[in-house]
Amino acid sequence: MQPAIARVALPVPLDKLFDYLIPSGAYPVVGGRVSVPFGRQTLVGIVIELTDQSSFAREQLKALYQVLDHQPLWAAPLYKLLMWCSQYYQYPLGETLSNAMPSALRKGKPAEWAKVVEWQLTEAGKNQLMQGLGRAVQQAKVMNMLSSGALSQQAFIDADVSSSVLKNLREKGWIVCVDKTPHRAAWPQAIEAEVDKPKLNQEQAVAIAAVNSRQEFGCYLLEGVTGSGKTEVYLNLIKPVLERGAQALVLVPEIGLTPQTINRFKKRFNVPVEVVHSGLNDTERLNAWLAAKDRSAGIIIGTRSALMTPFANLGIIIVDEEHDGSYKQQDSLRYHARDVAVMRANQENIPIVLGSATPALETLHNALSGKYHHLILSKRAGNALPTTNKVLDIKGLYLDSGLSAPLIAEMRRHLAAGNQVMLFLNRRGFSPALMCHECGWIAECKRCDAYYTYHQSSSEIRCHHCGSQQPVIHQCQGCGSTHLVTVGVGTEQLENKLAELFPEFKAIRIDRDSTRRKGSLESALEAIRKGEYQILIGTQMLAKGHHFPNVTLVALLDVDGSLYSSDFRASERLAQLFIQVAGRAGRASKPGEVVLQTHHPEHSLLQALLEKDYRHFAQSALAERKLAILPPFSYLTLFKAEANHSAMVEDFLRQVRQTLEANPLFDEYCMVLGPTPSPIAKRAGKFRWQLLLQTQSRPVMQKLLNSAKPAIQMLPSAKKVRWSLDIEPQDLS
Ligand code: ADP
Ligand code: ZN
Ligand code: ZN
Repeated sequence: MQPAIARVALPVPLDKLFDYLIPSGAYPVVGGRVSVPFGRQTLVGIVIELTDQSSFAREQLKALYQVLDHQPLWAAPLYKLLMWCSQYYQYPLGETLSNAMPSALRKGKPAEWAKVVEWQLTEAGKNQLMQGLGRAVQQAKVMNMLSSGALSQQAFIDADVSSSVLKNLREKGWIVCVDKTPHRAAWPQAIEAEVDKPKLNQEQAVAIAAVNSRQEFGCYLLEGVTGSGKTEVYLNLIKPVLERGAQALVLVPEIGLTPQTINRFKKRFNVPVEVVHSGLNDTERLNAWLAAKDRSAGIIIGTRSALMTPFANLGIIIVDEEHDGSYKQQDSLRYHARDVAVMRANQENIPIVLGSATPALETLHNALSGKYHHLILSKRAGNALPTTNKVLDIKGLYLDSGLSAPLIAEMRRHLAAGNQVMLFLNRRGFSPALMCHECGWIAECKRCDAYYTYHQSSSEIRCHHCGSQQPVIHQCQGCGSTHLVTVGVGTEQLENKLAELFPEFKAIRIDRDSTRRKGSLESALEAIRKGEYQILIGTQMLAKGHHFPNVTLVALLDVDGSLYSSDFRASERLAQLFIQVAGRAGRASKPGEVVLQTHHPEHSLLQALLEKDYRHFAQSALAERKLAILPPFSYLTLFKAEANHSAMVEDFLRQVRQTLEANPLFDEYCMVLGPTPSPIAKRAGKFRWQLLLQTQSRPVMQKLLNSAKPAIQMLPSAKKVRWSLDIEPQDLS
């Protein structure tokens, strides 16, 4: 007998499932989609259970509209993982599952290959092309575009060709539309392409053998400086996986997804490689999802969300630059893709490799304590030399837009030798504040507890917290004086100053402002590689994933803020940035140099980093964390709340605190800090407060939250604020 009721998870912010009657002749499946009435809307949800029991009377239940899938969307291990994510990150199941689907599926489209059509020249069209095309410019453009092969509709949209032009040409019989819906070809016999491969060094061989020796779950930290040959290890690990017909998932940070990285994987293997990132449109995303699911793709390379891709037969997971902050999602389902990847590998019973030159302290702790296997590549592959590092004490020195005289001299030396120089400043815009010289008034965002950043190139002041902007002001709103001055240095100002100091060299700025246009980052990186620019200025965007062999001097201009930050992870991030940028520079014939400007050359963090290495820094940082019982020696949950009135928010969080402390699972090792105003106490008109819960183990944290959350949701004050939970937060602001 077919059960009468489908229990459905819907994408709504409620921690519950919804019951619907199953109409006769409809056959929903657990893990498949159905469309259902919900208030006045139609929603797409996932069937979690088929049952005859409901706490509601049958008459009260509505019938579901339509069964959208006849197969579950996810195989059992991934489905279980998604359930676990919802639980662990305290996020409603319906929204978690919805998050894990390509948007086409969220909208109820069929889980099948979308029809893709391409245009191509007919014989008549080819003849016409040879005879010449007359004066219709747009038509000639289309014909020329097609002269080297078929193209998708999208190619013409991108080239600003209107569909009427295509229609005209079709009516003339010069072009035709053909169905190119992808079909699944079997993989070839020879998985590995004929390419030059370096001879593996001893450490690489050891690492590869360690992972390949067992085809079961195991977590491996591959610790190796940039250029030590980690990618080469990944490629060698993926090869046997593909050869036995299984697939590989490679996660990379948001910004690491450069064509160079992707091409290395594509060139090496004769199997289809799909790339998944935020820039894909709905169809492309669905196609990549399907290609993994039906095994037409061998390798999926992608950013955070690619972790949720279903695979026909996943054989290995690789997380490159595992310490990178972009693996943690900062809103909705606040999951950490690295941590969930480890869970996934466990559930699929396959190996996972976490690669980094600067492992997160959490990961390193797991490796040092023996929970993860620790593989080390200690030398740069080939024969590149390590960089020389230097602290530049800038106490009392005049800074010209952030540059000290010794640094300018150093730059001159490197530029004169025909090399490139790279400067880091983690602050975009012209200056982080605009101040009145007469009375000290500072232009402040009205909606946030923050100053406006002055952007000279667009003549605007902008708030980097709420995004509001307005034309630059020329008069003080306190005393009316017109003598406004900029305070502090941003990348825009630095760029101007460099043009003045080094008129004979070309500088390029890489930050979120300069790379807003799609493709502009890629073309900038390409231009740098070709040597069109000698001075590179960037925020940390420039630190990730790109290697510039002609850069011989890297300078970090202003790191002092990180040395004395209230965020306990600031020093770890600075250390990682330092090592990463050092890894960008130099090669065998041109050793690199790294210079760090600071007012605190004696600071123990800098000493550890410069005189020893990341590992020394990390081990002393871990010792400090242990003393302070901070992660990885405890587990944090951040309660965040905001509302129009400050008192309301504080009040709510105080009650959350009481609820937690009154819970029987709140043990002697649990601690609550706060409520305190958030570091940015007001944003976009809302007052923000936070509360930090610290526990000694994950199970305690989980049980306590599961037990206390319903009571918190019932608090009358909970209705008056917007609140959220961040499990194992990476960012305490
Ligand atoms: P990483 O991923 O650690 O930055 P890569 O794998 O990209 O390092 O290696 C850096 C460079 O060294 C690449 O050009 C790569 O081809 C080369 N390389 C890797 N392994 C070896 C090796 N064993 N011998 C010589 N060159 C190597
Ligand atoms: Zn603002
Ligand atoms: Zn003033």
